[in-house]
Amino acid sequence: MVVAAVAAGAFAAAAAGQTLQAASGSTEASPDVTPLANTRDASAALGSGGNAPAGAPELLQVARPADASAEVEKLTASAEVTDARVEREAEEARIAAEEAARPKFVVPAQGTFTSGYGARWGTTHYGVDIANGIGTPIVSAADGTVIEAGPASGFGLWVRVQLEDGTINVYGHINSYNVSVGQQVKAGEQIAEMGNRGQSTGPHLHFEVWTPAGQKIDPASWFAEHGVSF
Ligand SMILES: [Zn+2]
Repeated sequence: MVVAAVAAGAFAAAAAGQTLQAASGSTEASPDVTPLANTRDASAALGSGGNAPAGAPELLQVARPADASAEVEKLTASAEVTDARVEREAEEARIAAEEAARPKFVVPAQGTFTSGYGARWGTTHYGVDIANGIGTPIVSAADGTVIEAGPASGFGLWVRVQLEDGTINVYGHINSYNVSVGQQVKAGEQIAEMGNRGQSTGPHLHFEVWTPAGQKIDPASWFAEHGVSF
């Protein structure tokens, strides 16, 4: 009984001390308040609330409220670190899932497919044409790096994007571009607007695919290889 009374007294004094400490601090929420509240909870859990049988072994533990408070503080801090890590890992997983789900190859413009790759008008058409109004957004067909953006003979204005594997995508007759050389672009990211510049008979995108060796291949086949039907 004596031990319990002393313990409760010591505890009350410690708690009161913390209350004063908290009260003398700033008006903002003080970190001292939390351990106090937790200490009360801890003491309730340990059975010092008055209903516990006298001499119960648990009461002895209440004799060191400062230690209990420090433990609670440590546990709280540790729980906060764990929460932060769990949140960060969830965010990383969400970003990874988004990246995995993101299309890596897309059709570069909406419009009417007006001309394919191959023989045309006694010459060879080295790309595909997608016709639509001037200003129609043109997006990068794949992830890559802009290696050229500016005037080009026959193309009027063009943008060329090199992919990681060395393949080059060419966007011709564009009205304007919004990228610069060296810029990294992702599939679906706008790089230009459709135009009618150069040797063009109406507003359209002329799109070519060059292999790393410099061969101009059929973009429709290239898209098909990458799961995009044209
Ligand atoms: Zn064309």
